[in-house]
Amino acid sequence: MNLCLQKKNLLIRKVTRTATCDHCNEEVEDTIHALWGCQVLKEVWWNEHYLRNQLSTRYVDFRDLWIGIINSEVPKLAERFAYVAWSIWHKRNATRMQSSSLPFNRIYQDMCDRLQEFQAARELAIPEQIPAGPTHWSPPQRTQSKVNYDGALFHDTKQAGIGVVVRNSGGTIQGALSDRCCLPMTVDEVEALACRSAVLYVIQLGLEEVVFEGDSETITKALNSDSPCLSSFGHIIDDVKSLALNFVSVSFIHVKRQGNVVADKLAKTAKFSPCPRLWLDDIPSDVQRLVLADKCFVD
Ligand SMILES: [Zn+2]
Repeated sequence: MNLCLQKKNLLIRKVTRTATCDHCNEEVEDTIHALWGCQVLKEVWWNEHYLRNQLSTRYVDFRDLWIGIINSEVPKLAERFAYVAWSIWHKRNATRMQSSSLPFNRIYQDMCDRLQEFQAARELAIPEQIPAGPTHWSPPQRTQSKVNYDGALFHDTKQAGIGVVVRNSGGTIQGALSDRCCLPMTVDEVEALACRSAVLYVIQLGLEEVVFEGDSETITKALNSDSPCLSSFGHIIDDVKSLALNFVSVSFIHVKRQGNVVADKLAKTAKFSPCPRLWLDDIPSDVQRLVLADKCFVD
């Protein structure tokens, strides 16, 4: 949960004009208020028996509350708490963005349903067969463009690189991008960020029929799934899906790393070059060599 975005901080950063909680209009909205202290949340937390006699406790901060929860030894309380807290946070953000969310009085029941569903799915779990992506790059259909994206981690500089290459059915470059960003928490997050950059870039290029190809199975699965992505990169996946509505046709597919070498090279290039860098044809020669090698898969 991104604690940096609580309203008190947004006020300091002048994103919002008031630090008062949108729900109760009474107290300053810091994290502990947004997730626990606010009066309107009492009805949500009341559903959890163990918490009933603690509703009036004023915790110093979220950590203080969380430590209380995990030390309670009530079976599965931490799981239920985490899900409900996530829903409350999601609702808070949705309210701000004027998008829909569950009413407070349905949050707890929704959590119970979801946990039950999760439990049932785990009991039935059959290892999911993911068709493995191909091991080499292949051209898109004649009217399409294929966009390969990749991320690279630069732990020493606490940054990450993003590489994007756009090619037509003849394997010719229509555009390429190399950029840097702050180091996210996980590899998947970098891949998700790379995908979002790819989509934004292709919108700028004005292409309409596009195949996006990355080497992260996790991200490809999340992009093709109809269920909400609850991972740390879920909001990026949501962005990508809504941006993708700009295209006439779009798909997100997986390729093994050996098939994504051009994007990989561009992501790694970002470490040493001024960023962002964009190319239309005059691509660096070491990248050009990899593009030519991929061209042998064009009929
Ligand atoms: Zn409040």
